[in-house]
Amino acid sequence: MPEFSITMMPGDGIGPEILSQAKRVIDRIAKLYKHKFNYTTVYIGGCSIDRFGEPLTEETTKTILASDALLFSSVGGEKWNYLPQNRRPEAGLLGIRKAIGGYANLRPVKLFPSMKSFSTLKDSVIKNLDMIIVRELVSGIYFGEPRGVVTLPNGVRKGFNTMSYKDYEIERVAKIAFDLAMHRERKVVSVDKANVLDVSTLWREVVNEVHKNYQDVELTHMYVDNAAMQIVRDPSQFDVILTCNLFGDILSDEASMATGSLGMLPSAAVGGDVDMFEPVHGTAPDIAGMNTANPIAQILSAAMMFRYGLNLHREANSIEKAVESTLNDGYRTPDIFKEGNQKVGTEQMCDAILERIRCE
Ligand code: NAD
Repeated sequence: MPEFSITMMPGDGIGPEILSQAKRVIDRIAKLYKHKFNYTTVYIGGCSIDRFGEPLTEETTKTILASDALLFSSVGGEKWNYLPQNRRPEAGLLGIRKAIGGYANLRPVKLFPSMKSFSTLKDSVIKNLDMIIVRELVSGIYFGEPRGVVTLPNGVRKGFNTMSYKDYEIERVAKIAFDLAMHRERKVVSVDKANVLDVSTLWREVVNEVHKNYQDVELTHMYVDNAAMQIVRDPSQFDVILTCNLFGDILSDEASMATGSLGMLPSAAVGGDVDMFEPVHGTAPDIAGMNTANPIAQILSAAMMFRYGLNLHREANSIEKAVESTLNDGYRTPDIFKEGNQKVGTEQMCDAILERIRCE
């Protein structure tokens, strides 16, 4: 029986409520496909501060690094905002990201047909929206040196950052994008600003070099301003978008609006020592403990964990299809409720998904 160790990180706010639902789904998959999942649950963020006085302990980091995959929820809340930046819950998340070193952020942008009315785009524009954005996560302008704010001799203040990429940083994230495309529609659009930025010229060169090993994948290049426009004009043209940290940050939020709800969007950080899967949303303190949070982003994060972290594609399909048929049958948590649907709580939404999970 295949065995996997999964570290669960519920974090704060709605985290524990939705992660426990995802665990029920994973347990069902284990039973259906005869896998054994060994879970370890760790404290991270605010709950770790309350218990151990720090957002991420060494012990937790060791556990994380010894796992096959990480399923994270989210951290943070008003309660810990009085603390200095480096002792807040978010510092725990940054600590994990640094420890695992995942350099590619995956953001699927898929619109379930029954959710069309939640999209910010017209029906005629969204058509079959199903793309994934691969964003470089640990380099680029957010990390480049030199950076800072200085006062020049003439008294003028100057702020500056550096967008820099080394060839191997581009190469490794490009490989992730091409590998993903091989399991999808085999189309990669690499987004840059090569008409203006030198760093983008290198980006384009390296992506072209990596592409030589993926001749079955169609590669095109697009300037970021055009990409931002195309995402709202005709998002169905995209399969895999590959881009740098800054452009990916902006484009992934833009694209996510086409799907309508924050409670539905999973993401992943891959390529490091262990891959981590998590919802895009935060701890939603306004609805914590009320059994109204939408567990779908967390459950779809578990599906991503199967597909990209554990290479279990049938298992991932089982979950995604169950979510889709639950939505088709009209089950809705309050955030995605419309007249005529059946309003359910967090747990009942998961019950409905569990009822629809089948072996692929
Ligand atoms: P948020 O995503 O927590 O909430 C924004 C809005 O969306 C709220 O109205 C919330 O109720 C709703 N929402 C979010 N997830 C939902 C779900 N699953 N079901 C139904 N409704 C949902 O963002 P925020 O309010 O800006 O931040 C709250 C806290 O979360 C802050 O402390 C912030 O720092 C933290 N945060 C953490 C992460 C992370 O850990 N990755 C990410 C974003 C925000």
